[in-house]
Amino acid sequence: MTNRKKLKPTEGVFTANWIPYGYMYSPTAPNGIVIDPETKEYVQYIFEAYITGKPRAQICAELTKMGAPSPSKRKEQLGYEFRNGHANDYWPMTTLNFFLINPMYIGDYVDGDVTIASYQYINHAIPEDAKLPNIIHGHHEAIISKDLYIQAATLYHAQKDFRTSSQKKSNSLPPTPFFNLFHCGICGRQMYRAQNVTKKLGCYSAYICSSYRLRLPDACQKKLYPLNDLIPQVHKAILQEFKLSQKLASQVGEEKSTSYKKTEAYFQSQIDIAVDAVRQNSAAYNQLENRMEKGKITPEEYNTEKAALDKEAVEFSALVVTALENIRTFRKVCSYKNKWLQLFSDFDEDFVITRKTSRKYLKHINLYPDKPMEITFQESEERDKLQEYLSLQKGKGSGRLKRHYTRPTIEKTEE
Ligand SMILES: [Zn+2]
Repeated sequence: MTNRKKLKPTEGVFTANWIPYGYMYSPTAPNGIVIDPETKEYVQYIFEAYITGKPRAQICAELTKMGAPSPSKRKEQLGYEFRNGHANDYWPMTTLNFFLINPMYIGDYVDGDVTIASYQYINHAIPEDAKLPNIIHGHHEAIISKDLYIQAATLYHAQKDFRTSSQKKSNSLPPTPFFNLFHCGICGRQMYRAQNVTKKLGCYSAYICSSYRLRLPDACQKKLYPLNDLIPQVHKAILQEFKLSQKLASQVGEEKSTSYKKTEAYFQSQIDIAVDAVRQNSAAYNQLENRMEKGKITPEEYNTEKAALDKEAVEFSALVVTALENIRTFRKVCSYKNKWLQLFSDFDEDFVITRKTSRKYLKHINLYPDKPMEITFQESEERDKLQEYLSLQKGKGSGRLKRHYTRPTIEKTEE
């Protein structure tokens, strides 16, 4: 009975989006996976070329030259989902890492950390705190032999261990906690991160407009933004955003009371005004028909007035739709359902900027040579709307309430 668990789709049965390169999804296959005849040989080529000592960059260049579809390209061809917005027409070097240690290619299924699994195959030392993955042997058809896999994985780890240990010895550069967030405030282009080690500054990392770096004809002026200057500014801004969210959350809580209801009533009144306008328009139309039937107006007068009423009918219907949308947005934004409030609710005094957190909270940062950076936070539209609604509730002039729209004027049609 214990083996039943392995039959669960998450543990060993593939779905289309999780199929590794070289295989295809097949709902009729026992575990959902069959060999992809179009790409199988490229997988074999990768392993065979790698164990001859060919550099990975060269293997990638040759795969591209051979016309081998890149992993993302193949996913696109097969109609599977893939992470990046567009498929690569070339083989990025990092993709090879996924192949060289993956026991998938010898027909085994790994539920857990593939790197740890590969250590097990080659008798590499396993870190003490590592969680051993669950491996299902003979899970599906193999593309390469176990011998070839062991050779490749051994070589890969040997090179990797060497790379990390030699990096530690040298002056390693600080990793950036930001990923593609910085843009040039002047031209809008992506900022390029330049790295250098100097005697005076030590490890030195700074952003510079990519137009300068690429020597474009309309390049921005040379201006370096050191990474170490940017981090505290961004950190401070995120902390402020956390604090603001706490403040606004408390107001949302208390504003469920009278002033929330007052504002809600205001939005309701806007619906009533719009609905009333539609009604009056219909009534005016009936009266017009009446007058026409009784011969009180000429066909020309009738046509002119009818055209005006038709135009109004369109406008007033749109008002009803807008008013309904407004009250729905108000209720959603001015509550704990507000996406921005939810995002920034996990306030943490010890907040640290990492690649993960910077992506989570930040959307875009513009850098300027002569003024402070401009930060766009995730879900900031919801924050702006919330602030607007809260200031409406604070009654910062009833004039602001009227800003949405006022009662439409309707030409009175006297009987
Ligand atoms: Zn620029």
